[in-house]
Amino acid sequence: RSPIKSGLGLAEYQACEEHTLNQRFTRSRELSRALRCDQISIELQPQFNIATGKVIAGEALARWTREDGTRVPPSEFISMAEANGLIIPLGNRVLHLACQTLARLGMAGHEDIKVAVNVSALQLARRGFMQELISIVDRYGVNPARLELEITESVAMHDHESNGVLLRGLREAGFPIAIDDFGTGYSSLAYLRDMPVTTLKVDRHFIHAIDQTAGDHVIAEMIIKLGRRLNMQLVAEGVETAEQAAWLLAHGCPHAQGFLYARPESVEAFLARLASQAQAMAG
Ligand code: C2E
Ligand code: MG
Ligand code: MG
Ligand code: MG
Repeated sequence: RSPIKSGLGLAEYQACEEHTLNQRFTRSRELSRALRCDQISIELQPQFNIATGKVIAGEALARWTREDGTRVPPSEFISMAEANGLIIPLGNRVLHLACQTLARLGMAGHEDIKVAVNVSALQLARRGFMQELISIVDRYGVNPARLELEITESVAMHDHESNGVLLRGLREAGFPIAIDDFGTGYSSLAYLRDMPVTTLKVDRHFIHAIDQTAGDHVIAEMIIKLGRRLNMQLVAEGVETAEQAAWLLAHGCPHAQGFLYARPESVEAFLARLASQAQAMAG
């Protein structure tokens, strides 16, 4: 914000800037404290097979709950954590919690369920990230094939040569790799073909538009076709209506995640959901 545009006098402007700076500084300190004091947890949002209604995976989403029980939304703390470097310990915490969840799922007999985690560009760029990741899954006795790494399109495509090497390494170590929010970035289709990607997550923007604007419904259709031709799994994000789900199924996208099916929920609720699903199958 410039003093000219905002119409403030310079002194007012400086005071205002100082205020936001202070606020940011306070928030940063609060987050680093939150990390030390166990205020960061995860919720899982189930992903479903549209045709069978069965849960196939859960996406781990970071949650910050303050001491007084109030919550800070990820839209506020993730970008801040990326700006001040706290995304590294935060990301680590999420990885541990995701692996702990996978271990619990295994003990409960749900070895077929994957857990997806969001991995930020900064985590990926850290030297030794892969070693660290492997040591975490080892520690929890988790098969890497069950821990899906969600990477945004821009990260996967940015500096595609070095990231390509890194992602190939992660694939070789067994981790599935998903491109999150697909369709919103600037993917070169040629790079995408060469990327060791297992899953495309169609951004919810295109899903939202399915039963509305003609243009976006064309894009969703294109992404699905592309994913299928490249032998990738497809998951539609942000599915909110039965019409969208029916459209997706009819157009070749078998998996969905969204409020129509389930909101993000506690690890306990996710486990209970799987237990009742298994019971329904047996009975
Ligand atoms: P994302 O990875 O695309 O996650 C999906 C987001 O969409 C979640 O928001 C989820 O609650 C929301 N969502 C799911 N279904 C629907 C739906 O039907 N309609 C609508 N309107 N929204 C839906 P959430 O939990 O607020 O997370 C927002 C973003 O924050 C995530 O987007 C992800 O980019 C980031 N994030 C969350 N946890 C982590 C984390 O542990 N690490 C990193 N690096 N980023 C994270
Ligand atoms: Mg995600
Ligand atoms: Mg997403
Ligand atoms: Mg999205």
